[in-house]
Amino acid sequence: MPTFSAITALRALIAVLPVICCVAVAATTPFSIENRRTINNTAPATVDGRHTLNLTIANIAGWNDDEIVDSITIATGILAQCNVKVDTAELLRITVPESHQYFDTPRSRELARALALPKPTLYFTAGTRQVPAFDAEAIGRGNSRSRPELTDTVWIARGARDLGLVVAHELVHVLMNSGDHDNTPGNLMAEDTTPANSQLTEKQCAVIRASGARNGLLRPGVN
Ligand SMILES: [Zn+2]
Repeated sequence: MPTFSAITALRALIAVLPVICCVAVAATTPFSIENRRTINNTAPATVDGRHTLNLTIANIAGWNDDEIVDSITIATGILAQCNVKVDTAELLRITVPESHQYFDTPRSRELARALALPKPTLYFTAGTRQVPAFDAEAIGRGNSRSRPELTDTVWIARGARDLGLVVAHELVHVLMNSGDHDNTPGNLMAEDTTPANSQLTEKQCAVIRASGARNGLLRPGVN
């Protein structure tokens, strides 16, 4: 049996809890952009710039920037197959509370809403709290109706293998606005992301360019 004083203390705690909760929530937006740098165009010279992609990259979990830059360079090379040119990529180092460093729909919505970064946005996270847990997730138009802040975003968990391929694969999901996979050997959009799977077919490229342009993610650029 709890003692009277224990019950009194419990009542006092319950009485205080809503105040603690609401002051904390209302206090501030606890996200701050510490640093910005631009990763300049690393596209091969063969890409003509008619389909230009500008990326925003949010490092929200203290990733090594060089690891991120390397992955973007690899992804840029893969997208060049479709004559899609990553023109600029802006890399932001953002301090967020530990609670928001993971992909977790309600928290990630808060973060994306507060930051309001240009799309498509790649978030490099500490991990995922989603079930099932994927190394990376892409959110297009079709799977964002109940979470509009996350439209055209990619969430990459620390520890994802073959990072450049993962970035390219997830970006293609966003550009195609499709979660479809193609398990033809060698295809980038196979369910398994491995270095052996890096090719895109001309048909996939056509969908990437048409859908990306329609959704305002690809623009004609300056050659
Ligand atoms: Zn996929």
